[in-house]
Amino acid sequence: MEKSIILTGDRPTGSLHIGHYAGTLESRVKLQKTDKYHMFVLIADLQALTDNSDNPEKIRQSILELTLDYLAVGLDPEKTSLCVQSGIPALTELPMYYSNLVTMSRLERNPTVKQEIRAHGFGHNLPVGFVTYPISQAADITAFKAEYVPCGDDQLPMLEQAREIVSSFNRIYKCNVLVEPQAILPERSACFRLVGTDGAAKMSKSLNNCIYIKDDEKTTREKVMSMYTDPLHINVSDPGHTANNPVFIYLEAFSKKEHFDEYLPEYSCLDEMKQHYEKGGLGDMKCKKFLNSVLQETFSDIRKRREEFSKDKGELLNILKKGTSQAAEITNKTLTEVRNAIGINYFEDVLFINNLTRSSV
Ligand code: ATP
Ligand code: MG
Repeated sequence: MEKSIILTGDRPTGSLHIGHYAGTLESRVKLQKTDKYHMFVLIADLQALTDNSDNPEKIRQSILELTLDYLAVGLDPEKTSLCVQSGIPALTELPMYYSNLVTMSRLERNPTVKQEIRAHGFGHNLPVGFVTYPISQAADITAFKAEYVPCGDDQLPMLEQAREIVSSFNRIYKCNVLVEPQAILPERSACFRLVGTDGAAKMSKSLNNCIYIKDDEKTTREKVMSMYTDPLHINVSDPGHTANNPVFIYLEAFSKKEHFDEYLPEYSCLDEMKQHYEKGGLGDMKCKKFLNSVLQETFSDIRKRREEFSKDKGELLNILKKGTSQAAEITNKTLTEVRNAIGINYFEDVLFINNLTRSSV
């Protein structure tokens, strides 16, 4: 049976954080375990350049950082192809064709891009490459003919855009070349878009509100202890709010029954703990200490593995080179089909060439 293709990826703009883990890395590792899929994990360096054109060095460094994070969480290059966007020619050519199928007003309506433009404060200096990155992302997904894309919910507008491109392309060029992708969202809704340590709507490399997977024990503890909680919960006895409280959102995302048994046996589950906090009488310090134990346990083996893999940086590059060449091969096939469907395959189209010879005799 032919395996379905999964495409997923990250921008090399820094190392990965626990929001990535909860949002996509954990589900990538689970998907890798089934043999129903072949997964490509794309390091989107060209997309990272759209808002970092003046800092290519950051991107170069981050490529290896991301690879270390992938290997540390359990992605296995023997099963999953780890590849780099700029090394895959189809991914730069396809956006040229797709951009004719998308209007400016459609691009401007993309809520994730709108929010990112605001956060960057681009004003009149908005790079063209930045507004059009959803087109490039549609190219990434469709070049692999990916059916599934595991991602956080900030990526849903990109998938919608990709599906629109697929349907326009197949309709206009009367073909069935492109495949419509579907998102795979995390199981727990707290992981859809994990909030930042500052309580901001999203933990994001660009917002500097992250706990990184590679953060050591001390750094993680310090970040947890200085996290934003409920500003109205001043005294331990005050009733507190758990709904927009990052400590409880992280517990929702990461805590398991075993964590309660081991570190906080006075509660049997998170709901009980929440009830106590909301009623009053449970202090922030105690909650943060518990969260710290949960995170240390979740990430300590991952950190150790990361340390081990970081001893051979040359091997990281070899892994990427191999994955990128596998990716180039499969995406080139789609590119040929796309060019054939549009009819710009003048030099290979036997029918076209034969007609020319016939009409010139
Ligand atoms: P940048 O600020 O450079 O855009 P980022 O932190 O937003 O970085 P991306 O590389 O853009 O990370 O995202 C890669 C993947 O991780 C996407 O599938 C995205 O949905 C997911 N992701 C990113 N941040 C979070 C988060 N806070 N919660 C859940 N998923 C996330
Ligand atoms: Mg992002």
